[in-house]
Amino acid sequence: MTARTVHVIGAGLAGLSAAARLVQSDVRVIVHEAGAQAGGRCRSYVDTVLNMPIDNGNHVILSGNRSALSYLALIGASDHMRGPAEADFNFVDLASRERWQLRLGYGMLPLWIFHNDRRVPNTRARDYLVLARLMWRPGRRTIGEMIDCSGALYERLVEPFFLATLNNAPPEASARLAATLLRETIAAGGRTCRPLIAMEGLSTAFVDPALVYLRAQDAEVQFGHELHRIEFEGTRAARLDFGGNSVDLGSGDRVIVAVPPNLASRLLPGLQTPTEYRAIANVHFRVDDAALPVMTGVVHGTTQWIFSYPGRLSVTISAADALMQQPREELARDVWREVAMVAGLPNTLPPWQVVRERRATIATDPQQEALRPAAATAWKNIILAGDWTDTGLPPTIESAIRSGERAAALAA
Ligand SMILES: Cc1cc2nc3c(=O)[nH]c(=O)nc-3n(C[C@H](O)[C@H](O)[C@H](O)COP(=O)(O)OP(=O)(O)OC[C@H]3O[C@@H](n4cnc5c(N)ncnc54)[C@H](O)[C@@H]3O)c2cc1C
Repeated sequence: MTARTVHVIGAGLAGLSAAARLVQSDVRVIVHEAGAQAGGRCRSYVDTVLNMPIDNGNHVILSGNRSALSYLALIGASDHMRGPAEADFNFVDLASRERWQLRLGYGMLPLWIFHNDRRVPNTRARDYLVLARLMWRPGRRTIGEMIDCSGALYERLVEPFFLATLNNAPPEASARLAATLLRETIAAGGRTCRPLIAMEGLSTAFVDPALVYLRAQDAEVQFGHELHRIEFEGTRAARLDFGGNSVDLGSGDRVIVAVPPNLASRLLPGLQTPTEYRAIANVHFRVDDAALPVMTGVVHGTTQWIFSYPGRLSVTISAADALMQQPREELARDVWREVAMVAGLPNTLPPWQVVRERRATIATDPQQEALRPAAATAWKNIILAGDWTDTGLPPTIESAIRSGERAAALAA
């Protein structure tokens, strides 16, 4: 007989990762999700304008994201991620109309830097020393305080890479987060930088197989079950109030709170959390045949990355706060002009959809970074998880899944 229960609040990737690890130990696991669907900020749905399933946003992981890959293996979903055999990235510069391929290869060392035909055009091998400088004692400084944020290498590699991974204007972003990212990816060679994409949708890869796995392991997942309040007795949580019903916690029971920071701070009085967010905009176009690689980086435009899926081109714009007020059709037209130029397609606007997530991730400047709490809390039986907790990583899938692993280890 299992002795105790772990309640996981929130079925985003942090909650699902915690639950998937926990079912391997001798505890009963119950996941409580406020919404009707799992996946949180990483999920698929049917878009009624485009008349096709799309994701809430294009998501990429890298082959060096060890926690994400091990989660996918655990839930039996590794085959759903697709990517090139080597870490090759296609780029277009809208100002100069140049096109190039950054070829990081598949090695354990960043030797591509020494090859003229593999590195960024108009850069020299010694320019890449800025990456080493970023990794040297970043402390609480910003990227802009550590390196010069201008020039070809910055505009064509450093800015696109950190905008996508930190979701923040790089000059103001945390150099410590940038250093960790570099250490786990670019500095470790091409084998850790292969981009991996869930071509059949985020839910097919990250969410649905997790729900099947959890249920097969006798875990319960309850939808429409929002935690309204936690009642405390001294330094312990004593009762979970779900509105219509409440659950008394036994002495060995644990609660993993895996909800976004603004909601965690409402449930846990006095908890310090990040308070600022950055937006991400995605603009999707229904296009039948586009001769574009799966992923294209775009420099000197509003568009940052173009993703090519069957029947659809889809654009990601990170740190997109300035675009939140722009009329939707105007934004779609501006972005389509750029996409049409890159893909060699007519200027006529195809069916489109704009999806803007105002609170896509927390801001990643050093001030917000300092507010990210540890997994253990002031309450003995409450543990935190979420991409925004202090994982040492930017708020990404990897951070969410790693935070879930850590919370599970503390709760087991
Ligand atoms: C548009 C967009 C693009 C992105 N692109 C990338 C990318 O390319 N690569 C990458 O690695 N990351 C990317 N990210 C970030 C990534 O999606 C997140 O880091 C990750 O999904 C966060 O997971 P989480 O579980 O921490 O939080 P969430 O996904 O926010 O999950 C929290 C869950 O808790 C539930 N909940 C909230 N309150 C309650 C309550 N009181 N009771 C019960 N349940 C509750 C919510 O409904 C939700 O399901 C992107 C994010 C967005 C929005």
